[in-house]
Amino acid sequence: MTAPQNFPGPPVDLPIDDWLYEAKPKAGCTACSELKAALDRAAKQGDATARFEAARNIRHCTHDAIE
Ligand SMILES: [Zn+2]
Repeated sequence: MTAPQNFPGPPVDLPIDDWLYEAKPKAGCTACSELKAALDRAAKQGDATARFEAARNIRHCTHDAIE
């Protein structure tokens, strides 16, 4: 009889995909241009979290500033 495996398998090592950092700031959108600046700054500083958050915020931007 084999002992039941009562622990989870090895950790799943998820790669940080490029799409996490993908952002398409909309030209003319103030929020986007600010977020893009933050994204570039974070990329330069190697701050992966800030970079991801800025990219995410750009993706979620509703571009309210422009029609
Ligand atoms: Zn925007």
